[in-house]
Amino acid sequence: MTTALVGKEATKRKYAEERAKRLRADGNDQYVRLEGKFDDLAIDPHTPIQARDPVKDHVTFAFVGAGFSGLVVGARLKEAGIKDVRLIDKGGDVGGTWYWNRYPGARCDTAAMIYLPLLEETGYRPTEKYVRGPEIRAHCRRIATQYGLYEKALFHTEVKTIEWQEADRVWRIKTNRGDDFTAKYVGIGTGPLHVAKLPGIPGVESFKGKTFHTSRWDYDYTGGDADGAPMEKLSDKRVAIIGTGATGVQCIPPLARTAMELYVFQRTPSSVDERHNHPISPDWFTAIATPGWQKRWMDNFVENQGRGFPTEDLIDDGWTEITRRIRERVLSLPSDQQTPEGMLAAIEDADLEKMSLIRARVDSVVEDRDTAEKLKAWYAQLCKRPCFSDDYLPAFNSPNTTLVDTDGKGVEYITETGLVANGKHYEVDCIIYASGFEFGANFQLKTGFDLRGRGGKLLSEHWADGLRTLHGLQVHGFPNAFTVQMNQGANMVSNIPHNIVDHAITVAQTVSHAEREGYAQVEPTAEAEAAWVDLILTGQGSIITSSDCTPGFWNNEGQGWSKAFRQAQGHPGGAQGFFEHIEKWRQTGAYEGLVFSR
Ligand code: NDP
Repeated sequence: MTTALVGKEATKRKYAEERAKRLRADGNDQYVRLEGKFDDLAIDPHTPIQARDPVKDHVTFAFVGAGFSGLVVGARLKEAGIKDVRLIDKGGDVGGTWYWNRYPGARCDTAAMIYLPLLEETGYRPTEKYVRGPEIRAHCRRIATQYGLYEKALFHTEVKTIEWQEADRVWRIKTNRGDDFTAKYVGIGTGPLHVAKLPGIPGVESFKGKTFHTSRWDYDYTGGDADGAPMEKLSDKRVAIIGTGATGVQCIPPLARTAMELYVFQRTPSSVDERHNHPISPDWFTAIATPGWQKRWMDNFVENQGRGFPTEDLIDDGWTEITRRIRERVLSLPSDQQTPEGMLAAIEDADLEKMSLIRARVDSVVEDRDTAEKLKAWYAQLCKRPCFSDDYLPAFNSPNTTLVDTDGKGVEYITETGLVANGKHYEVDCIIYASGFEFGANFQLKTGFDLRGRGGKLLSEHWADGLRTLHGLQVHGFPNAFTVQMNQGANMVSNIPHNIVDHAITVAQTVSHAEREGYAQVEPTAEAEAAWVDLILTGQGSIITSSDCTPGFWNNEGQGWSKAFRQAQGHPGGAQGFFEHIEKWRQTGAYEGLVFSR
């Protein structure tokens, strides 16, 4: 038995105590949006807005969102012979989350070999196992260029309304740029995390210094650039950053390298494991990149996160280590303990052991004992988004960097000149919010528009009591519409693009079939949709993680899951179960649950 498990009960008590400190009655309402109150913080700092005439035409497929979803669906549609695909995005170029999030240190946290879509189709070799943001953005532009997706794209454009026109069997789309056009099909891929939020800390609007959210990084103020040039203009600045989630973990090291003084305000420490990044050599890549390689790699990652006992782990990273550790423990159980209770205990033990290693890592890296203690995460690894970094913890050894741990309470209030935490005022020149994105908001709030389907019904009404779809992708009463997102599908959080890559195949196959056979519309039956929702509700009962966990957006801020929230979870068989199901569904060619009509 490891030392971590000797103190098992004491560790679990500590987890519960730490969780209790963070629970708040206001849950998700503790946050405020940029739009409205902080409009100037929502402005696109990356690309000037170009004047253009309103568009009034017809396209076969209009897709809202030019991130990975729009790009991959667009690419697959083009391959299937659909010539006029229009991407619409509020950003000034393609890239979605990678368009906006240009904070220093941004990289993918999942291996690029499976994170970057369409590597095989574009012939692109990632330069490193985990590539930087600019390389991901360039890849997005590569896809858009190769598949001709710029031709009809509308940027800096926000969709206002999308309405089904029963007489013509088309969708009519209006935007904030005066566009008014129709499309036979629409797709929506606005991403799970695209509405930036600020903590609703008292006084948040009163600070007179410089302020921005990490998704609107202001390099004019900080100096440097997203490619990694040092932020030399911070050399005489006192900078505060609020938030130590996956974004904070990536941008705090470059800030620590350049700011005159850096104060990191922490409410809950992240678990930060080793990164193990390395360059990808052309020879190695050529050897592995045989036909079908990327699908094999993606499937292998899913298998290594799933129920089976895969013989190889191609990706071999922190994500697959989580399941490997659990698998090894379960397999080593004596036969009399191979019961459901025995297995649950083995899973818990695997996690306790891993988290004790992550805490020990803090001790081995961070020199100041008090700072090290405060950087230790006291919760199960999958309670919050696991982070991986080799330069985050060392940043706290820099003499200019101070961790302001708030013991789970957060920043108390903000003044004209700084922040107050633990009763102490910190005077600063700049406050950076690494405070994340809205997660639980309803569809319309999140996208800024609604879909008005057959009979005038709004999608937000149809989903008022929770998501209702077939395969997470199509909705009864909303013909020729595809919601490209992960809920009620694979819900694969460790490699979000895999959800999208798979949905794109279903969209392209369904649309090709309709076009080839001369159908005017396709939609799921009410029965098929209801059966899918029932199937989803047979699952474990949380979107990602348990409400017993320390609060965060992965568990509805610890508030528990209503039935409506539960409906957003994935297939009961996990990602592997969903991918297997949908692959078979596509292969039959029967389009079970869908009705095509002329
Ligand atoms: P998160 O929501 O994960 O983190 C927000 C941070 O702000 C938390 O540390 C939170 O503390 C803190 N916070 C909120 N309110 C206060 C307050 N009042 N006082 C002090 N601190 C406060 O947002 P991120 O942008 O970090 O990450 C969001 C998601 O984006 C990730 O989970 C991941 O899915 C994705 N992402 C992916 C990356 C990648 O693949 N490379 C990189 C970055 C993000 P608390 O924990 O206590 O709530």
